[in-house]
Amino acid sequence: MHTRRRHPPVLYIKQIVHWQPNSQTWARGAKTVLTYTLLYLVIDVALNRSAFTDAWTIVWPLNGVNVALLLMNPRSRWPWMVLGIEIGTGIGELFDDHVVWMEVGQRLCSATEILISAALLPPFITLDRWLRNPGIFFRFAAALVLGPAISGLMAAVLFHYTQGQSFLLAFNNWAIADALGMAAIMPLVLSLRTPQMLALFQRPALPKTMGALILAFAGAELIFSVSRYPLLFLLFPLLLLVEALLSFAGSAIAVVGVLFISVCFTSDSMGPFGNWPADLGIRRDQAMQLFFGFQLLALFPASLMFMERRRMTAELHDTNARLTVLAALDGLTGIANRRSFDERFTHEWNRAIRHRKPLALAMIDLDNFKQFNDLYGHLAGDKCLCAVADALARQVQRPEDLVARFGGEEFALLLPHTSAEGALKMVERMRAAISELGIEHIGNSWKHVTVSIGYSSLTPTHSDGQPRLIQLADAALYRAKSDGRNRVETISSVEGLGATSHDFGSTTSRNRTVRILGRER
Ligand code: GH3
Ligand code: MG
Ligand code: MG
Repeated sequence: MHTRRRHPPVLYIKQIVHWQPNSQTWARGAKTVLTYTLLYLVIDVALNRSAFTDAWTIVWPLNGVNVALLLMNPRSRWPWMVLGIEIGTGIGELFDDHVVWMEVGQRLCSATEILISAALLPPFITLDRWLRNPGIFFRFAAALVLGPAISGLMAAVLFHYTQGQSFLLAFNNWAIADALGMAAIMPLVLSLRTPQMLALFQRPALPKTMGALILAFAGAELIFSVSRYPLLFLLFPLLLLVEALLSFAGSAIAVVGVLFISVCFTSDSMGPFGNWPADLGIRRDQAMQLFFGFQLLALFPASLMFMERRRMTAELHDTNARLTVLAALDGLTGIANRRSFDERFTHEWNRAIRHRKPLALAMIDLDNFKQFNDLYGHLAGDKCLCAVADALARQVQRPEDLVARFGGEEFALLLPHTSAEGALKMVERMRAAISELGIEHIGNSWKHVTVSIGYSSLTPTHSDGQPRLIQLADAALYRAKSDGRNRVETISSVEGLGATSHDFGSTTSRNRTVRILGRER
């Protein structure tokens, strides 16, 4: 599906043409300019005074920071920010004896570069969302190439016509260092304040984070310090490994560290680029820059793939967890279904055998429910079943007790570690609770919805005795029905099921432990 872009360029031009700043806009803008001027003045002076001075021609980190900062801010702030950034950097460079108008020219090139690169990239809100923007890899690649290339052309013209520098050399000097700086630094700045970055340095993840970073830095030191044996082929697998271990944020730290280690060793003429032949058409620094730039570009889609895989795994995990819950619940009433009852029954049965504890089971059946449906309709019947299920579930307090829909208008209650005496209290409370709901049912003797409950408790001794407990509870339910409904009854395992499980007529002939808890008062 094609979605309309929210910020077509025409809209921007219209906005600029119709821009009518008020005094508040000016004040806010001036504050932004001043803040960025001071910030960049300090940063630029610090960078130029650092021990790294020469290496900045290999990788210029500031534009990566600049683009990241722009992406984190609304586009309306960009002009003010860029103005402050360039004024601050410009003043900083003037301390290094730069000619003023040359510096102005360079600042224009720089501003063009960061605006083009930032405009090609989606705004940054969260790291996950940013990385999941459609076509992010191509936009990332375009930002790295087009911004530095266009500003590199401008800079080449500037240096060629003012200082007589070779056009190609001037272009290379400007564009490649900026592109590399952007590829390495921008992901790090974007990741800095994200939860992903924070998580890397929290207790549980810390050993893994430190281990992977140490591995990356030690590996880079080895690769870029050994001159006699080319180990360059190890770099990409190393970066991939760190990416797989630490994801985008962690790999962003590793990349910057590895890049600076490589720049340091190469500047000292060590490692695979150290003894670069002078007669090749490309200089040592540029070879290294290009090599690194493309390594980082190639790492980006791999990083996206790792992220996507992690996200899909997490999603699958969530879906599975949700499905497991759904598969265990009854679709109408939302309480446990027959399937989870069967599973739990087997589990509790075996547990009861191991612990030699009694297990109680009750069958709860709505009275004259067929008539309820006939009188009030099936939808009202469904609603009634939900209300009953809800009321039953509310009576259950111990986490190991389970009330489930056994089928139709019948519910089952499983009470582990419960004797017949304990079960009686529980089922009587349930019977009363349903009666107290007061759901009208003129086809029932009590004129409201009631349930009959049969229950039994026994101490299981062998694993295949489960059906017997169900038969006992069922038989007790049958007895509750035939004795008048809205009552609870039990049949003990000692009493057994007699000749036929449904023949409870001659009560005197058996040791009956039926408890009749009276009709409604
Ligand atoms: P008794 O007091 O002896 O239990 O009589 P009864 O009418 O409740 O029992 P019977 O087994 O004859 O009928 C059960 C009825 O429960 C049949 C069916 O219409 C109704 N029933 C079962 N499941 C559902 C359901 O999911 N929704 C609705 N609305 N009714 C259901
Ligand atoms: Mg019924
Ligand atoms: Mg029934």
